[in-house]
Amino acid sequence: MLRPGDSKTPWWLMGGTGGSGFTGLIRLSVIEGATRPHLSVEPEPAMDFPISDLMDQGACYDKLVSWLHPDGLACPRCGARDGLVVHHRHRDPVIDYRCAGCRRVFNAFTGTLLQGTKRRPVELVLILRGFAQGVPTAQLARELGCDRKELLQLRHRLQHAVYRFHQAALAQSS
Ligand SMILES: [Zn+2]
Repeated sequence: MLRPGDSKTPWWLMGGTGGSGFTGLIRLSVIEGATRPHLSVEPEPAMDFPISDLMDQGACYDKLVSWLHPDGLACPRCGARDGLVVHHRHRDPVIDYRCAGCRRVFNAFTGTLLQGTKRRPVELVLILRGFAQGVPTAQLARELGCDRKELLQLRHRLQHAVYRFHQAALAQSS
């Protein structure tokens, strides 16, 4: 049985603060965010442009960073928090950093469930929010103009992580 703390447990499943775990944090935060009026995706009768145009990439990026790294961004290889140098800004506001200690280049998504995503921060926030609210994948894909298969894969990845996290928590409490 997989337990938080086992060396096999990916770091993003371990609780950064108080043992609630990455998935717990991301779910809670998404639900929290859902009550904020500026994130509303109420159906609009004549919507000619995607809601993502109305949202701020920088604010959503900051939100994602706080969900993924509640203790602050650190080098995924050596754990250093200081000496992180900006390496690239070509996907601004997503910044590539280089660790001055071990020279690893990474961004906020490296080593997390969102690693390798090409989605912009606004889309990611809306996707995670939709998942947390139980919006069907097909509907979410339509609303955001995303590929349904891509969304389904991400949803399965997140569900799998949530399931494993709860199994580990159960095993620990029994
Ligand atoms: Zn490093």
